[in-house]
Amino acid sequence: MPPRLIVVSGPSGVGKSSIVEAVRDRTGAGFSVSATTRPPRSGERDGVDYHFVGDDEFDALVAEDRLLEWAVYGGHRYGTLRREVEALLGEGRDVILDIENEGAKQVKERFPEAVAIFVLPPSLAELERRLRRRGDTPGEEIARRLELAAAQMAEAPRVYDHIVVNDVLDAAVDEVVAILGASDASARASESHRSTSPC
Ligand code: 5GP
Repeated sequence: MPPRLIVVSGPSGVGKSSIVEAVRDRTGAGFSVSATTRPPRSGERDGVDYHFVGDDEFDALVAEDRLLEWAVYGGHRYGTLRREVEALLGEGRDVILDIENEGAKQVKERFPEAVAIFVLPPSLAELERRLRRRGDTPGEEIARRLELAAAQMAEAPRVYDHIVVNDVLDAAVDEVVAILGASDASARASESHRSTSPC
């Protein structure tokens, strides 16, 4: 069974990083360290949380086609490094990408077999509460993020294979783990069908 590329995306503040962290713990899937032009936050380590790069370095990554996808978020560029993903897949491990919506769409277009999961808030009102509680997003930016979230939620069924509501974190994690288990089982079934089928 070949290892899989798994994409988890969702609106800002929905809690996808917490879900991805817990799913990785439970499944052993690998984490691909992205490149970004955003400056490190306190406590973040280069090469662990992100590869923090300058604009010129990011330009070179794009020009040399070393990114699987990239997008601009909050005025900074973020991209998935091919070498990170290939190294993990080469070890036979599934790879989970925690990326924003534009990048997720690029991955799904290029790799239709990727398992794409969109995390929904229970409601836009709850998403607004979470963004305010987090305290790192200015008021006018909250309104913009909520508008963006509504647009992403509307198109999500066309882009993603699975939609998971993050109401209670543990339940959302269980659901993602179950989705990955089921997609693993169905891939195994179609593989064994192919290997026994005469054509
Ligand atoms: P933060 O700056 O808070 O770490 O991340 C901001 C947003 O960028 C999050 O939605 C995160 O999922 C997304 N992100 C992180 N790495 C990548 C990446 O490699 N590609 C894309 N497209 N988005 C990313």
